[in-house]
Amino acid sequence: MNLNTHIALALAVGLLLFHNDVTIAVLVGIGAAIPDLDREYVFTKRKIFAKYQLHRALFHNVFFALAITLFNQYLGLGVFLHIALDMLTSPTDRGVELFFPLGRLVGKFMLDYDGNVNRKSKGMLWYLEDPVRIINKTADPGLKEVNKMPWIRIYGPFKNSRLVDWMIFYSSFVFIQLYELNNLISWWESFLYTVFVKYIFIDIGIIIFYFTGEFWRRRLQFRGVTTKIRNSIIIIMVFALSLILYQGYHLYNPINTSIGIREVSLIIVSLIIGLIIAYVHVRLRFKQVVL
Ligand SMILES: [Zn+2]
Repeated sequence: MNLNTHIALALAVGLLLFHNDVTIAVLVGIGAAIPDLDREYVFTKRKIFAKYQLHRALFHNVFFALAITLFNQYLGLGVFLHIALDMLTSPTDRGVELFFPLGRLVGKFMLDYDGNVNRKSKGMLWYLEDPVRIINKTADPGLKEVNKMPWIRIYGPFKNSRLVDWMIFYSSFVFIQLYELNNLISWWESFLYTVFVKYIFIDIGIIIFYFTGEFWRRRLQFRGVTTKIRNSIIIIMVFALSLILYQGYHLYNPINTSIGIREVSLIIVSLIIGLIIAYVHVRLRFKQVVL
């Protein structure tokens, strides 16, 4: 979905869940702005980016969201909300690759898009081929598939930037105004103060990073840019990133929970043992192991 939609919903949810605390709501909003930094802003050509299929994968997965949550729970909530919204978007928008990079350990699939069954492959297989024909006809060039891929993303029914996307944005905005109606002017003052004074470095960093990134993605990568321009863009983006990291570092605030190393190890061991038993079970029952 659009970046403004992600931020508006995160602000509304933050205000609602955390007793109208503007600082916390803004942190949830900042968290919701992070995942889309995985677009092709990294000075590669679109083809290379399409080859690795990193957008809606690199920062749109549960592992990234959990890592951010461990760092700061409010930022983490924003990342989770962002991922949840993007999961509702279509194959053209490329949904979300929720288990990146783990899902890529298995590269083959059993059923192709025309319903032909692959009976030769051994080992683990994904069930379906990604709906590549519709994706390559309709998606952004940087999101198209160069090679055949299994269907490992989660897609939904809604198109980016259309009715539901804008409805979520406007509804969240209206909700915030109504929720703060008794003190609307002072709420806006403290909101703008929080965004443009308190978290100025991280916000400006994110804004510069997005603007230069989009400028590169939409325009510059198609022109023969000189080394001078290229270097100055790299410097601007490194500067923006250091602003984000400088203030982001001060937001370290881990949650107090009873989940420690022992519990995490138990979860991992249980998952591995469960996987081995399920593998044998499915193998004996169906011969081919489809995820
Ligand atoms: Zn996104």
